[in-house]
Amino acid sequence: MIEKIGVIGVGQMGTGIAQVCAVAGYQVRLLDISATTLAKAAAKIAANLERQVSKGKLKPEERDAACARIVTGTDYDVFGDCDLVVEAATENEPVKREILKKLCVHLKPTALIGTNTSSISITRLAAVTDRPQKFVGLHFMNPVPVMQLVEIIRGIATDEDTFAQAKDVVAKLGKTAASAEDFPAFIVNRILLPMINEAIYTLYEGVGTVGSIDLALKLGAHHPMGPMQLADFIGLDTVLSVMQVLYEGLADSKYRPCPLLVKYVEAGWLGCKTGKGFYDYSQDPPVPTR
Ligand code: NAD
Repeated sequence: MIEKIGVIGVGQMGTGIAQVCAVAGYQVRLLDISATTLAKAAAKIAANLERQVSKGKLKPEERDAACARIVTGTDYDVFGDCDLVVEAATENEPVKREILKKLCVHLKPTALIGTNTSSISITRLAAVTDRPQKFVGLHFMNPVPVMQLVEIIRGIATDEDTFAQAKDVVAKLGKTAASAEDFPAFIVNRILLPMINEAIYTLYEGVGTVGSIDLALKLGAHHPMGPMQLADFIGLDTVLSVMQVLYEGLADSKYRPCPLLVKYVEAGWLGCKTGKGFYDYSQDPPVPTR
């Protein structure tokens, strides 16, 4: 039975995963590369929960209990008694492999490992661990507290018990699981990210501006958010990584990342998380950068 959940990497996704786990009653352990990042994540969770209290969605004592369940650390010892650890670090395979190797030696034998990767092979990541049968893809959507879906992905070695326990956790978080096979980018991102990449090509070729592309998809296809805004929200480094995984993993030129996307990432214009991407967020409302 899973009672204590670890999260590695407390960026946009790890922070959200930690928050929903703590609210659902799990003990939560968080690790990132610096104490400053961890402090920021804890403050962000506290602020999010405070907002839920002010909206009447959470009682003040529930907020206090959720915050008290969260312990942070920069040493992998923090995961020693976890039943499940979810890796949610940067979408970069060598980074994730390194983390998983370090993690295994600190885990108890029964502990499960989940990864929130958007695109990387679950089977390949599982293979660097000492427990591929206890390894599963747990792909949360952004923003985690709001989005209902979690994709659960089996690697070739994932056993039934691990899959069943992953489904239980998703249900206990009040979310809905969709199972996906282990192919590059799974279901949601296999469909969504090429659409975003195509929107960036549309900008690159001058068919539309950032503003007109977003307007067209919002009013013309009934999307709640335009693709340029969504790309900024996901993080352009993550968008590029997923397209690279699709391009290499499926060996099809239709997944070629748009050169303009590459340029934005090279500039460090990664979207909302750096304050600038296809929009400049230093102004309100944000101003298109093209
Ligand atoms: P992010 O850039 O906001 O956060 C990444 C975090 O990982 C940072 O806090 C960074 O310090 C940490 N990190 C990097 N290297 C580390 C290491 N060696 N050890 C510990 N921590 C380390 O990224 P994100 O958007 O939160 O994405 C995280 C993961 O979630 C990626 O695998 C991504 O593909 C996936 N994901 C992202 C989205 C999205 O919309 N952004 C949606 C679903 C899944």
